[in-house]
Amino acid sequence: MTDLTNKRVLIVDDSALHRMHAESLLKKMGVTEILQAGNGIEALDVMNASPYLPDILLVDLEMPGMDGIELLQQVMQRNLRMEVVIVSSRENALLTTVEAMSQTLGIAILGALQKPLTLERLAGVLGQEKLVVGTAPKASAYSLDAITRAIDDHEFVCHYQPKVTLATGVIKGVEALARWQHPRDGIVYPDRFIDAIERHGAIMQRFTLALLDQVLAQLKYWHSGGLSLTVSLNISAQSFADARFVNQIIKKVEDSGVEPRHLILEVTETAIMTDIGASLGTLARLRLKGFGLSIDDYGTGFASMQQLSRIPATELKIDRIFVHGCHQRQHLIIMLESAIQMAEKLQLSVVAEGVELTEDWQKLKAMGCELAQGYLIAKAMPGDQLLPWIKTESKRLRAL
Ligand code: C2E
Ligand code: CA
Ligand code: CA
Repeated sequence: MTDLTNKRVLIVDDSALHRMHAESLLKKMGVTEILQAGNGIEALDVMNASPYLPDILLVDLEMPGMDGIELLQQVMQRNLRMEVVIVSSRENALLTTVEAMSQTLGIAILGALQKPLTLERLAGVLGQEKLVVGTAPKASAYSLDAITRAIDDHEFVCHYQPKVTLATGVIKGVEALARWQHPRDGIVYPDRFIDAIERHGAIMQRFTLALLDQVLAQLKYWHSGGLSLTVSLNISAQSFADARFVNQIIKKVEDSGVEPRHLILEVTETAIMTDIGASLGTLARLRLKGFGLSIDDYGTGFASMQQLSRIPATELKIDRIFVHGCHQRQHLIIMLESAIQMAEKLQLSVVAEGVELTEDWQKLKAMGCELAQGYLIAKAMPGDQLLPWIKTESKRLRAL
């Protein structure tokens, strides 16, 4: 779940009533900084006048003066980076077209919603689903002390989510996802501890190295049983920028005797683009050593094809917002086709994340996407469950 409390949101709508309604919904989600504008020109004025850009733009389409589409074009021309939600009373088909247009322009579009706005739908596009259900635990429920102790006590374990070849249904590798086996609270998911760890670079590094130990042991076990898998491990932006830490990873893998090609390091597109200069050096070194390198959450950052072509990656992982529901959404198909084509040109493997529906699986397969990961295949599971899972599920996957 995204934390909205420190996000700045600009509502652009010519109806004061609609602005008020949107404002009250945002407040319910914990947003404290809300700006308003009555049309596109006013919105640009507000952005010029304020020292920080809004993080999220909630924009109506039909407005006097400058309408929503012109505003989005201006935002792109001026290279202003923010996430966009379109809100309009127009029909769904038009909304879909505008959503597709925005995506082609490279706008980070979160969704297009029909008026009247509801808490549920707005929360849905802002990544707040859990808030609506009302089960969200407080993100900061665990102290850093508790987390540090848990690392030392080996309470963090990896669960593994299969990644399979679409054409055959055969498992190619797994992604290691951290789980906290909390002595009191049971299994705790990353949304409740990763952010806290991320804020403390040194602890993140300790955390990642502890997981790497587990991954290497697990890989050896699988390989000894004749199962030739790769394991993908998530590396945070900060850790990735630290050359000393990267050396520690290289050393650990060398000492373990596991071949680096069996390990794929996942770094988000945003992390790479934030400091492309430093990233390129690190990526090049890891590639020279033979590690696999995956560009995670692809599509949510702003990498251009030219920039991507300079990154020595081996895999492109398309974020699930472009995958889920693709079989019936033309603008997602456009995005997927271009990502798949680009991966092919750059000789990268391409993975669709978040495959939940058989229809999406079939669409991706027809488009020539190489690999898929998602709940349709399996959720992440403890390492010792993988072999039995392969035994019981491979027939179902072959038939998909
Ligand atoms: P991610 O790297 O994008 O990992 C994929 C997330 O999507 C996982 O959530 C996975 O369980 C979930 N997922 C997989 N298939 C589906 C699907 O079909 N539908 C839906 N709705 N979700 C699906 P998880 O395990 O909760 O991890 C969340 C995030 O936490 C990860 O996103 C990653 O950014 C971070 N994370 C997890 N483990 C680690 C770690 O060891 N180190 C670091 N630095 N970050 C980690
Ligand atoms: Ca990942
Ligand atoms: Ca991802």
